[in-house]
Amino acid sequence: MILPSHFSDPSNESIFVDLHTHSTASDGTFTPAMLIDRAQLLGISILALTDHDTTDGNAIAQSHGKNANLLVLPGIELSTNSDRGTAHMLGLGINDESSAFSSLLGTIRDGRRERNGRIIQKLNLLGYRINHDDVTHEAGGDIIGRPHIARTLIRKGYFTSIQTCFEELLDRKGAGYVQRWRPDIRTAIDAIHESGGVAVLAHPGLLRLESEAVLRHFIQSLAEIGLDGLETNYSMHSSQQLKLFSDIARSFGLIQTGGSDFHGLNKDYGDLGLGVDAKHIGFDFARELLERLRLDSSISTHQYHHN
Ligand code: AMP
Ligand code: FE
Ligand code: FE
Ligand code: ZN
Repeated sequence: MILPSHFSDPSNESIFVDLHTHSTASDGTFTPAMLIDRAQLLGISILALTDHDTTDGNAIAQSHGKNANLLVLPGIELSTNSDRGTAHMLGLGINDESSAFSSLLGTIRDGRRERNGRIIQKLNLLGYRINHDDVTHEAGGDIIGRPHIARTLIRKGYFTSIQTCFEELLDRKGAGYVQRWRPDIRTAIDAIHESGGVAVLAHPGLLRLESEAVLRHFIQSLAEIGLDGLETNYSMHSSQQLKLFSDIARSFGLIQTGGSDFHGLNKDYGDLGLGVDAKHIGFDFARELLERLRLDSSISTHQYHHN
């Protein structure tokens, strides 16, 4: 992969990155092309598209990124089951989907379809007039999730915000909640590796673990089964969390990445490109990933050779 020309000095402090973003292929409100355009406008140099449970947006994002002189890494975010509850796994640099990976995505999609049907049934019993077609219409792509159900309910006038809709109905404790099938975390890590990707635990600060000791132990156990990295710089982490997670990453030889979890207008997560303390995410949070993906050689090859 050839890097954009402004990579001539990778230590350049003006290189900003965002390795966790969502598009209309899952539950974001920006199409992949809109996401790239906005990234370019904001001066972001490296972007990973990490839609929930789908790689459908990656091809167009990559081709659009070439025109925009921006490095786009194809990715995914998988919701998994672990010993410590649901954990989100980023697959970064997914370039060659293995058959195990594709069939995993198929199983996840079936699980969503079944779950969504049961949520709609529950909502109907509760008196909400909503059907499958309404929700499909709300989703731009193949992945239909709770945010699309929430948006449908808002459109129909039942709620005024996604947040209140989740609180009242769709959260784990809500009256319309139904669990969906999730792969085991190890299966997800293996599938990402088989597809050329690097497995990074997303937003460790959102795991609800009792103590730092439990968190360390959990991450160590993941490192032992092949986890490659931690998303240490994340829009909803505090600077103390960033420090702690960086320390844990170093303890277990894990790489560090940074991302905003931008969902467009869906949520009030940070804007594209913003990490801890709503600051731009620097190249340090992509460097090790590029090394793992062997993109570092193209950086040095191109170093100082651009006009
Ligand atoms: P699903 O994968 O269909 O179960 O939906 C999960 C999506 O809902 C993820 O993108 C979450 O970020 C989003 N989500 C979960 N809880 C909330 C919440 N309380 N408010 C807004 N979005 C949420
Ligand atoms: Fe989401
Ligand atoms: Fe997540
Ligand atoms: Zn995400």
